[in-house]
Amino acid sequence: MTAAPLAEAPVSHRLTALDRCDACGAQAYIAAEVGGSELLYCAHHGRKFEEKLRAVATNWHDETAKLQD
Ligand SMILES: [Zn+2]
Repeated sequence: MTAAPLAEAPVSHRLTALDRCDACGAQAYIAAEVGGSELLYCAHHGRKFEEKLRAVATNWHDETAKLQD
């Protein structure tokens, strides 16, 4: 038996209607981990802050694809 290779993390849909944008309070679709804490943003603010956030974020989680379902 060989160890299974590390699986690619599936695109998870872990944000719920209870997760709210830190900027406006709308439902969050983007989560950015910055300095060990997680910032949540709606699609609008996620896009607005994406360039700056990605420069400092250690993790970027985007569920905006759900909006196109
Ligand atoms: Zn927002």
